[in-house]
Amino acid sequence: MKDIYIHNTLSRKKELFKPITPGYVGIYVCGPTVYGDAHLGHARPGITYDVLVRFLRHLGYKVRYVRNITDVGHLENDSDNGEDKIAKKARVEQLEPMEVSQEYTIRYHEAMRKLNVAPPSIEPRASGHIIEQIGLVQKILDAGYAYESNGSVYFDVKAYDKNHKYGILSGRVLDEMISNTRELDGQDDKHSPYDFALWKKASPEHIMRWPSPWGEGFPGWHLECSAMSEKYLGTRFDIHGGGMDLMFPHHECELAQNMASRGTGGVNYWMHNNMITIKGQKMGKSLGNFITLEELFTGKNSVLEQAYSPMTIRFFILQAHYRSTLDFSNEALQASEKGLRRVMQAAKDVLKLVPDDNAAELPEIKNIFDRIYDALCDDLNTPVAMAHIFDAVRIVNSAKEKQVRINTADHSTLKEIFTVILTDVLGLVDEETADGHEDVVGKLVDMIIDIRKKAKENKDWATSDRIRDELKEAGIQIKDTKEGTEWYLA
Ligand code: ZN
Repeated sequence: MKDIYIHNTLSRKKELFKPITPGYVGIYVCGPTVYGDAHLGHARPGITYDVLVRFLRHLGYKVRYVRNITDVGHLENDSDNGEDKIAKKARVEQLEPMEVSQEYTIRYHEAMRKLNVAPPSIEPRASGHIIEQIGLVQKILDAGYAYESNGSVYFDVKAYDKNHKYGILSGRVLDEMISNTRELDGQDDKHSPYDFALWKKASPEHIMRWPSPWGEGFPGWHLECSAMSEKYLGTRFDIHGGGMDLMFPHHECELAQNMASRGTGGVNYWMHNNMITIKGQKMGKSLGNFITLEELFTGKNSVLEQAYSPMTIRFFILQAHYRSTLDFSNEALQASEKGLRRVMQAAKDVLKLVPDDNAAELPEIKNIFDRIYDALCDDLNTPVAMAHIFDAVRIVNSAKEKQVRINTADHSTLKEIFTVILTDVLGLVDEETADGHEDVVGKLVDMIIDIRKKAKENKDWATSDRIRDELKEAGIQIKDTKEGTEWYLA
């Protein structure tokens, strides 16, 4: 198997990837908080880790990809205080909290499907793993790294920092953090402002609540990822991914919880994708530059000059390295749209090239192929891989114009670049062909209806009825009118 290098946030350098079990990779990625529509910020981790999983599978690894759904515990303002966003909407609109999170989960899945992000192997929900989370709180209490206070349980960061180092992932030092912070106001149940909730006592109006040894309450946000990654990937697994914005406090706390409960940080490689900015600014609702994926696909947002197709977004994201910031602009997306069209045209043209076995081998083709692999093995360098794919586009265009001749072996390599690397690994598919399929179905149904018409003219009622019934079975309803036969998808 080829050597892959991954930048590990923990060591702050690129490392040769060595899986714990040869041939198998366990990956955990922090999924969405299912409150609010999927937005541009969701597209980047979605696509980045999708390409990582696709590439590892392409190389022959068996991958278990776990991406969670946060439907409890990630609170509105502060991770310890305030009302859960989902619970609040449920209360205001008189819905079950599960109705709220289900609605947004469906919309998130739909957006990911459009972006051709393959579903994870396991998609656990925080609310479905309360028992595991309570068990974890108990373990951390037993280890002496947590304390109970007024029905809540907090992680004792100072006690932890004495024996292990708190802050190793984000590079923060606890003493420096303490000297820069205000004192607690005495109203708080916490001993220190850095302590974070493992379990939070539910106030009387809080509707998402579960019984626990410490009274009725709900889990702290960071807890779910420690509990669910251990359940599905074991006490130590290969890769943990997520956005850079999750590195602190979420992943730092997760690592501390793992260490406190299992004696290991639990993760060999921490990967963090950078953020998408809009004209150099962080995207945010309060900044008025917040764009949902649905708005991008439809063009319905005043920031947008036009609609951008899901594959244009995917192409745009892959054109930057996942660890670099990516600045959104209409110009950049329009350039991506053009680039996508060019590469998709070449992907179609390459299949129609007629190889010429009298042609000499073109070593540059094999060279391009190897360089694409090298780029992907080098910390998933998709922009370099894409640049080499464009080298292949130029060769396809020259061959199409009969400026170069391609032999069979080179033709196979070229086809592999477009059908395997571009389509299977990078997940870029031709949106026009997808529409084309509907067109083919339409033509086939018209042809079948024409055969039925002929059967009726010949008074072959058996055939005509059979066609009607079998089309119905296939989900196509037909209706005979004076003007002819109409059909529609039932
Ligand atoms: Zn997480």
